[in-house]
Amino acid sequence: MGYPADMHLHTTFSCDASATMETHVRNAIALDLQYVCFTDHFDANPADEGNAYYRPDAYFEEISALQDQYGDKIRILKGLEFAEPHLFPREFETLSSRSYDFILGSVHWLGDFFVLQKDRIGEFEPDALEERYYSVMEAMTAFGGFNGLAHMDYLRRGTGRDHWPEDIVRRIFTNMVKNGISLEINTQHHRRGLPLAFPTPALASLYASCGGKRITFGSDGHHPSDTASGIVETLDAYAAIPGLSPGVFVERQFIPLS
Ligand SMILES: [Zn+2]
Ligand SMILES: [Zn+2]
Repeated sequence: MGYPADMHLHTTFSCDASATMETHVRNAIALDLQYVCFTDHFDANPADEGNAYYRPDAYFEEISALQDQYGDKIRILKGLEFAEPHLFPREFETLSSRSYDFILGSVHWLGDFFVLQKDRIGEFEPDALEERYYSVMEAMTAFGGFNGLAHMDYLRRGTGRDHWPEDIVRRIFTNMVKNGISLEINTQHHRRGLPLAFPTPALASLYASCGGKRITFGSDGHHPSDTASGIVETLDAYAAIPGLSPGVFVERQFIPLS
């Protein structure tokens, strides 16, 4: 079975991506996708090399040109991946007022520590690091204003530990339900040879048991061969969880796909 959407893709408008928008669009059409969403990075943390890289005007112009060219074949959605919006409320207000279809919130930084920074992981006691990471996520989901929580247990990629503080995680899911934030299933694990997507089916089940319903699938692809990668292979594990509804966001509104 195929799947019609990739809701998390990076392009040359992100400092760490090599794929052009047009490459992803052509790949997506060849893969028979109906929706593709470009969620380029905005990281305001001064330690992030991309903090001054994102050019929203050029981004919107490029999307508009591609919509003119390919709009009869595929729906090209305008997205944004904004890291720690609650810590940068002015920047978030300015950017999120633009005409995005879908805004992902993500936790990339804990102060000056990037959550995948393996050379520094040893500085932290694992339980304390997980508590800190998920506490930032709790504050971010309480702040709200975005549509999807990106790669929830991403810290696992750095620590290798599939472990999280359940009390905080339950509060994150409660915030999400209250603030209309969907759960992203991020399939970058597939091209990294990891067995489980972000978040794991166990976390997605807990989301459903806390009243969460909406999920999106995204490859988090940064390179030309990444378009929609891992999504089809990952679908079944989440489709089997009762209560979850996969969909897309258009003009910030959730549209179920089944
Ligand atoms: Zn991210
Ligand atoms: Zn991303």
